[in-house]
Amino acid sequence: MKLVFVFMFTVVMVSGMAQENQQPMKFAKNPVVAHRGAFKAKTLPENSIAGLRNAINMRCTGSEFDVWMTADDSLVVNHDPKFHELPIEQTKYSDLLQFTLSNGEKIPTLYEYLAEGLKNNKETQLVLEIKPSTVSKERGRIVAEKAWKQVQAMKAAHATTYISFDLGILTRILELEPKAPTQYLNGDKTPEELKALGIAGADYHFSVFKKNPDWIERAKANNIILNTWTVNSKEDLQWALGNRFDFITTNEPELLFELLKGN
Ligand code: MG
Repeated sequence: MKLVFVFMFTVVMVSGMAQENQQPMKFAKNPVVAHRGAFKAKTLPENSIAGLRNAINMRCTGSEFDVWMTADDSLVVNHDPKFHELPIEQTKYSDLLQFTLSNGEKIPTLYEYLAEGLKNNKETQLVLEIKPSTVSKERGRIVAEKAWKQVQAMKAAHATTYISFDLGILTRILELEPKAPTQYLNGDKTPEELKALGIAGADYHFSVFKKNPDWIERAKANNIILNTWTVNSKEDLQWALGNRFDFITTNEPELLFELLKGN
């Protein structure tokens, strides 16, 4: 009897998850993207599972995180090329586990991070940054392919957008999936150039848009998604709101939500 119940429960859970994954996700109607998760106000570690969960609980429209590949081809989530003193691209995954994040979490794998992002999450987009490889451009393309395959295998595509400073990484993803949502970070392509490349968004440092204010209107005219980082001061957040950016990537999601109430 007990076994039958467990079996039924599992069937309901699994079919529920599959259904949830098949439906296109409607992201929260706000421009707030938590940069490396919503970590700062709660003094959580950047790029932690806890920071991602906090961003989902806050109903941010997106939560950003950074992906590297270890020497033995594991995809892990961390901002810097080093985890503690270990260079990630030259270190085996198991050797990274000798250190933890400040809240006791181990360094998340992309698998674990996406699994958390698919759990009890109806509105928060997973903004997956693939870091340019410090080894070679070719390795960057391999990381892009592996990350894309991981997203497909986990049925997370409906919740994921890809961002990178490395154009070769984004074009590799577009070779695999021509309509994949991608945004370019490096700030050296005009909206028209992005459109020609099939890249969906300009996710540039706010100084790039301040230097090229016409790119904001030109992006809108070309249906290029506008995202800007890392906007933290009240003044700059108001500037981004005033210019109607689709996404504002910030370490201060609480402050941005406060400002949105007043707008
Ligand atoms: Mg990042």
